[in-house]
Order: sequence, then structure tokens, then C-alpha cells
Amino acid sequence: MIKIENLTKVFRTEEVETKALNNVFLQIKKGEFVTVMGPSGSGKSTLLNIAGLLDSASGGSYKLLEKEMIGLKEKERAKVRKQNIGFIFQNFNLIDELSVYDNIELPLIYNGVSASERSKKVKIIAERLGVSHRLKHYPQQLSGGQQQRVAVARALVTEPKIILADEPTGNLDSKNGNEVMELLTDLHANGSTILMVTHSDYDASFSQKTIYMKDGQVLLEKQNTRNIDIIVNG
Ligand code: ADP
Ligand code: MG
Repeated sequence: MIKIENLTKVFRTEEVETKALNNVFLQIKKGEFVTVMGPSGSGKSTLLNIAGLLDSASGGSYKLLEKEMIGLKEKERAKVRKQNIGFIFQNFNLIDELSVYDNIELPLIYNGVSASERSKKVKIIAERLGVSHRLKHYPQQLSGGQQQRVAVARALVTEPKIILADEPTGNLDSKNGNEVMELLTDLHANGSTILMVTHSDYDASFSQKTIYMKDGQVLLEKQNTRNIDIIVNG
């Protein structure tokens, strides 16, 4: 499903050059649920952004659904992204000018879902995430936790094959965090492939494999079900 080899990402500004990813290898099978952990600045978001086709790599290979994504034209990438990927952003990325309802509905419009189906799906997911009484509000009128739940709803409303979630419970209390984790677990049970960044061991325990990153490298991979530690990169 996801096959990353030798992936590098260098950010260049006038003064500094940052190697955010340094030779990353990662394979995720169809239907697998994988967690990424590691200190701040270790490259977790960069990895997710590249996996979600929101940013491009500086080198290496990224195969998604058996197809090489590096070097693909933006139009093609956008098509793959819309049809397959639900992305939960660390900083929400809600559109301020749109109501909660319109934010959640947007990916359904992109995917050509009919108006009546759209309204059903928005209502179901908003109910599930406890934001159905906020559908007419605008993002700035919501608390951080509510914005995060709207962002989760927007990413998951299309029931995407691949879910990329950057700290999806980072701004939630434990009750709301658990609801998001239950939702992800249900989607996983229905066949979604998930790559999630978290700082929470509890959230990670829902996944099958945890990878640990440091300084842009994957240091360790741990199978959560069988508890076997494998040293990957020294
Ligand atoms: P994490 O999500 O693990 O906290 P990031 O992937 O956001 O880490 O960042 C990895 C490194 O890349 C950090 O040193 C960060 O400062 C740098 N970085 C991330 N995005 C950019 C950018 N757009 N421009 C320059 N440097 C960046
Ligand atoms: Mg991050």
C-alpha cells in the first residue's frame, strides 16, 4: 500500500539547510494501522505530509498503491489524494470563511457525491464527533478541541482508504480523544490503512506497529501485538 525507500527531505532557507528526513524506509501493508512517535522536530509531520502528497520529497522513492509518486505532476497527485487519502492536520487547517458544515462537506463535493448523500454523511459524522450542534458556526467560534473534531470529521467523511493523522488527539481531553481513537479503530476494522503521529502511548496501543523517529530517521520499529523490537537503523 505504502512503500517508502531512501526518502529524504531538505528544507532550504537563505541561512539554514535542514535535513528533515534522512534516508527513511517504511512499508505499510493494506489495512495496517501504524503509529509514528518521536521528539518534536524529528520529521514526523514532514513524513506524513509527503505520504499525504501535500509536500514533495527531495530524493528517494514513494510508492502508493503500487505507483511511484515522486516526480508525478501536481494534477495527478491531487487526483490520487482526493480519491484515496483523508488527512488530519496537526494545526487543523479548517477554512475560516466556511461554516463547520461546509468544511466537512468539501471533500464530498470534490469527490462528486450527490447533494442528498452529502447531507446524510455530514450529519452522521458530525453526530459521531459531537459537533452536530455547531454545524452553522465558523471555525473561529469554536474551541481548539472542537476545531480538531471538525478537522477529523472532514478528513474521515469520505471514508478514505488511507488515513494520515498528525496528532489527531493532541488538543482533546481524554473523553474526546477516546472518541476519535474509537472512530479510527472502526475505520481500521472496515479496512482503512492508517498512519498516525501521536505522543500518547495509549493512542499508539490501538495500532499494530509503532515506528520511532529521531533526527529524520526511523530508529526502531515495534510490533504492538507481538511485542518484538527490531532495530532498523543502528
Ligand atoms: P515533527 O513533526 O516531528 O515535530 P517536523 O517534520 O515538523 O517535525 O520538522 C522536522 C524538521 O524540519 C524540523 O527541524 C523543522 O524545523 C524543519 N521544518 C519543517 N518544516 C519546515 C519548513 N517548511 N521550512 C523549513 N524547515 C522546516
Ligand atoms: Mg509535527
